[in-house]
Amino acid sequence: MLLIEENYDVKRLTSLKCGGKIKKVIFPANRAEFEEALALYPDAKVFGNLTNTLVSSYGYDGEIILTTKMTSFSFEGEYAEADCGVKGPKLSQAAAEEGLSGLEFMIAFPGTVGGEVFMNAGAHGQSISDVFVEALCWSKDNGFITLKKEDMNFSYRTSVCQNRDIAIISAKFKLKKAEKETIKAKMQENLDFRKAKQPNLATPNCGSIFRNPEGDSAGRLLESAGAKSFSVNSARVWENHANFITNTNDAASTDILELMAKMQGAVKEKFNIKLKPEVRFLGGNDKREVELCKILYQK
Ligand SMILES: Cc1cc2nc3c(=O)[nH]c(=O)nc-3n(C[C@H](O)[C@H](O)[C@H](O)COP(=O)(O)OP(=O)(O)OC[C@H]3O[C@@H](n4cnc5c(N)ncnc54)[C@H](O)[C@@H]3O)c2cc1C
Repeated sequence: MLLIEENYDVKRLTSLKCGGKIKKVIFPANRAEFEEALALYPDAKVFGNLTNTLVSSYGYDGEIILTTKMTSFSFEGEYAEADCGVKGPKLSQAAAEEGLSGLEFMIAFPGTVGGEVFMNAGAHGQSISDVFVEALCWSKDNGFITLKKEDMNFSYRTSVCQNRDIAIISAKFKLKKAEKETIKAKMQENLDFRKAKQPNLATPNCGSIFRNPEGDSAGRLLESAGAKSFSVNSARVWENHANFITNTNDAASTDILELMAKMQGAVKEKFNIKLKPEVRFLGGNDKREVELCKILYQK
């Protein structure tokens, strides 16, 4: 039976360990339940593992669908097919066991297949768009549709799903046969790189805060603008990389948004470049947060 929680606190489910109560959270466990959820709540927003999302501490007065109970995947020849809620590291490991290469980058961060397709997630020279074949999707206007790679308008951390309200239900990837040992060595290399360069989940964070502007790195610009010393209450820029915010002790979403605005402002002042946030925001109940989002997200 479709699990629906009311007035549900999602803080512990987010990688930033920040957020408030959501009016309704729906947890489909398979495709049929996802379809049921979409039919019942066509305006619900869809999220995966909340590792790229800042949820407002003031909560959200609407419905969201969390897909993390949708964990089915399969392999056929060189193809992998996965439900949107499958976690990247799980799929990456399973592909390695099948002797299939192309998903080694997924080992390194905790998103779901749906979140990764939506964001065109990537790392270590690989990204979703390199292996994507098609996705079963749903949109309010067109119902169920299959989107092929050419429909997705993939570019750096962007897909067509970000411009239109499209829920990704499952996705199919084309991989390449390779030696298991070679695939596993690449995965280990990716994990080792992370240890030095990025905070792990023991330090609450949501990955990169800003997208890299064309031809430059957000981390370099932020560091040059002095952001490594910035903090707002318990929200701090990570000492080893200026494009990460860590929640050191129960930071509120407003602290994180104020810190993001401070970081964005410093780069604008020094380089006349407006950094675009990569992290998504869910909220809308607090006036100050709405103001901050206008500054942060407007083009
Ligand atoms: C420690 C750490 C390291 C990270 N490193 C990287 C990295 O190297 N590269 C990288 O690209 N990202 C990285 N990230 C960010 C994040 O993991 C990715 O963006 C991931 O793709 C988000 O997946 P998610 O399921 O958590 O998405 P969520 O945060 O749940 O959602 C993100 C966005 O996707 C949408 N979405 C999610 N699922 C669906 C769906 N089924 N249908 C439609 N829309 C959907 C949501 O509405 C939201 O707008 C990192 C995060 C952390 C915490």
